[in-house]
Amino acid sequence: MVSLLSNISFIQARRLSYKSIISWYAGLVKSKPHEAPFNHIIQIGDPTLRTTSQEIPRHLIKSDEVKFLIKRMEKVMQKYNCVGLAAPQLGIPFRLFLIQFSEKQLNYYKPQEREVKEMQVVPLKVIINPRVEVTDYTKLTFVESCESVRGFHAEVPRYRGIKLTALDDKESAFEMNVVGWPARIIQHEVDHLNGKMYTDVMRRTTFACSCWQVVNERGGKVELPYGAD
Ligand SMILES: [Zn+2]
Repeated sequence: MVSLLSNISFIQARRLSYKSIISWYAGLVKSKPHEAPFNHIIQIGDPTLRTTSQEIPRHLIKSDEVKFLIKRMEKVMQKYNCVGLAAPQLGIPFRLFLIQFSEKQLNYYKPQEREVKEMQVVPLKVIINPRVEVTDYTKLTFVESCESVRGFHAEVPRYRGIKLTALDDKESAFEMNVVGWPARIIQHEVDHLNGKMYTDVMRRTTFACSCWQVVNERGGKVELPYGAD
């Protein structure tokens, strides 16, 4: 029910101006703390994940609403231990995402895998209104997952190298030239801003439940939590 109400609010908001969207969002935060931006990650099927998100006007980047949204995203990202999170995944269709690939997350992989996938540590970065240019058209295919398709994974082809141009949370413009794993994370997150999911571009026959063996071991008695509290 909560999700239905939020979707109706969202559809109504789509017809309004940026100013109206900000006040609509501010209204949600003050009067309906249980609505977007959520404390959980929304799941595939929610119409917000199929929306083309809107740019954040530069003068609103330091607004209380956007600051609040970024803080909430940082909190949820930590809670779910994910390497990227886009604003629409919390129910807010803005062109904003966060990436982070920590030393701890890097160490989860074996050295050989790190090398093949060109993994490297990426400090937490706020990315607003991104533009992506492909710098290396080589397609690399590796297993990928998404917290909005919780409990599954698949092989997904992505370009090896990209140049990212964007604004950060201080309104400063920056550029990043990246290859390998960080380029994959960024392509995944930018897709979210365009209403695209990895399931649209995955190798379909590789789509798998991430715990199918456990399902067998426990005779089907496995629960998948959608919140990470
Ligand atoms: Zn995702």
